[in-house]
Amino acid sequence: MKALQHFCTITRHKILVMKECFQVGLYRQGLLHDLSKYSWTEFKIGCKFYQGSRSPNNAEREAIGYSSAWLHHKGRNKHHYEYWIDYGLDGEKGMIGMKMPVKYVVEMFLDRIAACKVYKGEEYTDRSPLEYYLKGKGEYLMHPDTQALLEKLLRMLAKEGEEKTYRYIRTNILRKRR
Ligand SMILES: [Zn+2]
Repeated sequence: MKALQHFCTITRHKILVMKECFQVGLYRQGLLHDLSKYSWTEFKIGCKFYQGSRSPNNAEREAIGYSSAWLHHKGRNKHHYEYWIDYGLDGEKGMIGMKMPVKYVVEMFLDRIAACKVYKGEEYTDRSPLEYYLKGKGEYLMHPDTQALLEKLLRMLAKEGEEKTYRYIRTNILRKRR
């Protein structure tokens, strides 16, 4: 059991996302981000399959054919687009991505930055989150509007950097909601 290492990994990530959320004014989400990772259902899997360099969910998938921790996680955390997958209406067959509230799209964007920073370490640049996103593009079951906003923010980050992008989020993306 790698309880201490796992605890440090998820807490380091949580603190990073919290700082980013606070910078754009999402205080509540900053405090609550990924809280279910500390629930016993998710925490025990994280300890059992602790990898250091990649998600324990992948190791659990390989071991038992699915990840119970991920299924628990994505059903409770609205910043994951997987939370918003549901049956389509109006003759649209099967499961589709529903349009996400903007504040969760922003949290998803910040989550990706934090994850990328830990994963890339010294090699991280403002382009890294965009590059990671483009590698997986086409596989996301995401609403087109949601995907367009995420991609717009990632491109802005790559081009203009964090400070400008966070200011744009504060003044143009989140303020418009009220
Ligand atoms: Zn999460």
